[in-house]
Amino acid sequence: MKAEILAVGTELLLGDILNTNAQFLAQELAALGIEVYYQTVVGDNPGRLEDTIFHAFSRADLIITTGGLGPTEDDLTKETAAKYFGENLVLDEKALAQIEKFFKRIGREMTENNVKQAMVPEKNGVVLYNENGTAPGIIIEKDGKMIVMLPGPPKETVPMFLNQVKPYLAKKQEATFVSRILRVAGVGESAMETAVKDMIDAQTNPTIAPYAKDGESILRITARAKDEEEANRLIDPVAAALRERLGHAVYAEGETDMETVTAGLLLEKGKTLAVAESCTGGMIVSSLIEYAGISKALLEGCVTYSNEAKMKRLGVKAETLEKYGAVSPQTAAEMAEGIARTSGAAIGLATTGVAGPDGGTPEKPVGLVYVALHADGKTKVKELRFAGKRNKIRERAAYAALDWLRRTLQYEE
Ligand code: AMP
Ligand code: MG
Repeated sequence: MKAEILAVGTELLLGDILNTNAQFLAQELAALGIEVYYQTVVGDNPGRLEDTIFHAFSRADLIITTGGLGPTEDDLTKETAAKYFGENLVLDEKALAQIEKFFKRIGREMTENNVKQAMVPEKNGVVLYNENGTAPGIIIEKDGKMIVMLPGPPKETVPMFLNQVKPYLAKKQEATFVSRILRVAGVGESAMETAVKDMIDAQTNPTIAPYAKDGESILRITARAKDEEEANRLIDPVAAALRERLGHAVYAEGETDMETVTAGLLLEKGKTLAVAESCTGGMIVSSLIEYAGISKALLEGCVTYSNEAKMKRLGVKAETLEKYGAVSPQTAAEMAEGIARTSGAAIGLATTGVAGPDGGTPEKPVGLVYVALHADGKTKVKELRFAGKRNKIRERAAYAALDWLRRTLQYEE
């Protein structure tokens, strides 16, 4: 089934509101395995709306519209769709009663033009009664073509789709779609895509789709099969091949995040941790503390922002700060050693960097961050460079530090 999402409303064309319905519907249809080839927006104009619906049906089997079901003259989606299907519109008493009830509930007088909203197709229509507003949604289906018309306000569109349209469409899809997510860290989205490009191109079922979300690189493997078990059988070898290709960069499958995985590993390995943060200002510790039970592993976190704090609290040497600067591999190393020593933790983790927007120099530009990790008597330092605004740099640095800790715990990297 090929689908098109059609948002109706001049306010969308003017940019007064964002087409969030299209995003919602696109994600839902993808999950149902319905391919969306086009998303269209058209204003409240009878001629152009008619053209758009007729054109959309020349290339799609299913059109999902939102908007234009209101009571006013310029709300014409239903009338235009009825014209395409050669349907008459007749009054639906139940829809009218619901509209009347809705107005009673909100304590307002129903006006005559609301009756228009209770008009439904005479023969090939399904009425989607609206619990959250006045306009009922309508499905018209005939000769292999289907239109699903939903009201515009998202608080009506979303529940109507989820409760009524989704089950209706799911029944028509004979296959099941199952997706599995691989979470990838320490490799950017485009580098990840390049690394597995040949596999993405070669796969049809399951498909592999790379994307970035909340600063993470993600691979979504989606299989089409007769049932969930068969879909998982198709996904397993592909997931294994991707893991092999990407190695330690794959940090988890499914719904989780970096702090959960890292915190879990600390507890599993029975290691204690203390963190000394400069540019990340507590972000590392704060994200670990989201994990309930981390108190067994996380001993302490210090935000040692000034040189004095680095010396007094962590024992970083004055000569080190003088000779190499606060943002240097040497300082990072002494910070990690100092926090491990003074806290008694098995692992000391430290960050120091230039978060910007000021303070950058040609040798030490904004975005330069050193992360140091002290464990088992050894100290390692990583030099990292991040782009973006101050807070993005800080977030990325904290994430990278956690990822390195994760790799150390998991693979002794
Ligand atoms: P309508 O049903 O066309 O009268 O739309 C009613 C209201 O729903 C609009 O004024 C918007 O606030 C909202 N709306 C309509 N279409 C969309 C859309 N595609 N995405 C998000 N909100 C919408
Ligand atoms: Mg409108």
